[in-house]
Amino acid sequence: MSGNLYELFQARFPADRARAFIELADGRVYSYGDLEDISGRYARLLTDLGAAGGERVAVQVENSPETIFLYLACLRAGAVILPLNPAYTTAEAGYFLGDAEPRIVVCRPEIEDAVREIAGAAQVLTLDREGGGSLPEGARDLTPMEDCATVDAGSIAALLYTSGTTGRSKGAMLSHGNLASNALALHEIWGFAPDDVLLHALPLFHTHGLFVATNCVLLNGTGMMFLPKFDAGTVVKLLPRASVMMGVPTFYTRLLADPGFDAQTCRNMRLFISGSAPLLEETFHAFKARTGFTILERYGMTETGMNASNPLDGERIAGTVGFPLPGVEVRVRGEDGQVLERGGVGVLEVRGPNVFSGYWRMAEKTKAEIRPDGYFVTGDVGKIDARGYVHIVGRAKDLIICGGFNVYPKEVELCIDRIDGVAESAVIGIPHADFGEAVVAVIKRKAKHPDLTAETVIAACKGELANFKVPKQAHFVDNLPRNAMGKVQKNELRERYTTP
Ligand code: AMP
Repeated sequence: MSGNLYELFQARFPADRARAFIELADGRVYSYGDLEDISGRYARLLTDLGAAGGERVAVQVENSPETIFLYLACLRAGAVILPLNPAYTTAEAGYFLGDAEPRIVVCRPEIEDAVREIAGAAQVLTLDREGGGSLPEGARDLTPMEDCATVDAGSIAALLYTSGTTGRSKGAMLSHGNLASNALALHEIWGFAPDDVLLHALPLFHTHGLFVATNCVLLNGTGMMFLPKFDAGTVVKLLPRASVMMGVPTFYTRLLADPGFDAQTCRNMRLFISGSAPLLEETFHAFKARTGFTILERYGMTETGMNASNPLDGERIAGTVGFPLPGVEVRVRGEDGQVLERGGVGVLEVRGPNVFSGYWRMAEKTKAEIRPDGYFVTGDVGKIDARGYVHIVGRAKDLIICGGFNVYPKEVELCIDRIDGVAESAVIGIPHADFGEAVVAVIKRKAKHPDLTAETVIAACKGELANFKVPKQAHFVDNLPRNAMGKVQKNELRERYTTP
């Protein structure tokens, strides 16, 4: 076996290739035989078009089974997949294409002409959400590739661009070995069993949907119920046929908002997993009260895949992300550069076989963020408590320095979230003439409490927090701005509330 991730999956495919791999809500089923056939023909086409040998294949399409087959085809061909959010405008996508110089771009047919203008020398193919387009057409009559490209584990399998909320977006190079080690660790610690069925409704342009969810299923050789988009009503209908679900916190809040979602819906479930953004403690407890299930929260990022997870057996603690994965080390570094003891708050650093190979064509950035001893500086601020649970307090760039004192937004958010009438909150720092930065709270009220005022919020914080942490202003919004993974867009809030 070479280091090709596809070979690891293939060794675990069910002997009976007629077994289901993907089932859609409309009843369509794709078997493991279909997986091999379709990804094999796509791989042949990619190879014929010169994408083997580490050339990039940019993919900006909607979620569909064919998107997963295209991912597998890239692995098989030895090409590097570069998934892009379909919501990116052509101008935004143009930056990534210019930077990554792909050999092939696969896009939705509607934007084909626009993509051709920015694709440079790349060949442009199309794939629509129904599985049609010039990619499947071009591959239809080809002989499927039987095996796959021989690559070593260090070869790059994927180029995933970080969200780029600070400065230029960077392409994280993930190797076959990075992805394999992480998938094996997750498959083991989450106890995947031969009868598991995953409910998958996550975007495939992000590590969560493309790798965490999909790779666990592939390693398990079992099936998934696949939804191109999360929709609470459809999930409630399909959940009785699933045993594991992976989601971002918004999936869980939306399920709780659906009166049809109850313990009966979850009768065949064994595990609900959450990640990519912090799960509110309120959601954790409300979910337990409604369904009897304790959501398992885990923590990861584009550059590293998953780093830590609450335990399958053992206590899952709300507001924590659990223990480092097997083979993964996590340490905390304080402002003075010292590695901190348990309990100390600082920037989390991660080392292990999951840590990416570096940023695409950014040697300096890579050097700045991967230390000589192999630890990657995550940019997340957190701590490891006395029992070894990892806690995340926020992003380092979101840290607020008010009058020379550090304010961790999470601490203020937790305080605000406890106030009667608050649904959720985001705490940001905005420039302030005296203090450097001022703490500002942005709050979504609960529907039943339209009268909640800024004065009430500020007064409640005064009773609980040191003065420098108390918000100087509180603003109310209908909804906090979130990206596709449910992360609150603090940049946008900072811009909105900074007075020029
Ligand atoms: P991304 O690279 O888009 O996957 O974003 C990674 C970032 O999401 C991490 O660096 C964290 O800041 C955040 N994140 C992921 N999982 C969690 C979690 N369970 N709790 C809090 N933040 C999280």
